[in-house]
Amino acid sequence: MEALSLSKLNKIYAGGVQALRDVDLVVDEGEFFGLLGPNGAGKSTIIGIISSLVRKTCGRVEVFGHPIDREPWQAKSLLGLVPQEFNFNTFETVSQIILNQAGFYGINRRTAHQRAERYLTELGLWSRRNSVSRTLSGGMKRRLMIARALIHHPRLLILDEPTAGVDIEVRRSMWDFLRRINAEGTTIIFSTHYLEEAESLCRNIAIIDQGQIIENTDVRSLLRKL
Ligand code: ADP
Ligand code: ADP
Repeated sequence: MEALSLSKLNKIYAGGVQALRDVDLVVDEGEFFGLLGPNGAGKSTIIGIISSLVRKTCGRVEVFGHPIDREPWQAKSLLGLVPQEFNFNTFETVSQIILNQAGFYGINRRTAHQRAERYLTELGLWSRRNSVSRTLSGGMKRRLMIARALIHHPRLLILDEPTAGVDIEVRRSMWDFLRRINAEGTTIIFSTHYLEEAESLCRNIAIIDQGQIIENTDVRSLLRKL
């Protein structure tokens, strides 16, 4: 099954910048897929369009076969998103943020509490569950967003540069956590500008530059070419 399918995807922003040009990409269910590229390449634009935060100019986007423009709710309910910007209420506690999200998806309280405990524990945040979120460090805020994105058990988790600005020790534990989530069956797509990170986590990657996919291959054969 295809978790994600993009075809002839184009984005021209209001100012006239063409951020994406005829992007074709397929990510199969179960993959841990890396989207690589330098700053400004178009990674966030792709992620924004998949999660309906950015409107595409033209092209097709399907999440598990659901076109995002015709079946937006089906597509959204299968998706978990960890954006680059911190976008939670900084005056709420860690628990409130997670449980509000669960409420938004109609998850019953018992299940929500069980899941919150598991994810916050595995992400090293359980002891901070009653802390107001603005008091967390950058790395903790990032992990809070990962826990929040998983609360409805999405089949596809998308992370936009999840390890940017996170120190190496925390980055490693984040990777271990994401590997575990992937091994349990969640498809993961993440963007990064570190080839080393993609090498450690993914089998398949796409490299995007100036709005175009310039490589779509498995990491090993790419490394052999370099
Ligand atoms: P990346 O995530 O790979 O750094 P982006 O998708 O953020 O790249 O940006 C791709 C291109 O689109 C860049 O040239 C960027 O300046 C431009 N861009 C991004 N967001 C906007 C916007 N809201 N309005 C106009 N141009 C934008
Ligand atoms: P930073 O100041 O770099 O943002 P963090 O807030 O991310 O640091 O990390 C704070 C502490 O939490 C660190 O000592 C780190 O080792 C620990 N930590 C990070 N991730 C986990 C995890 N998954 N499980 C347990 N402890 C963790």
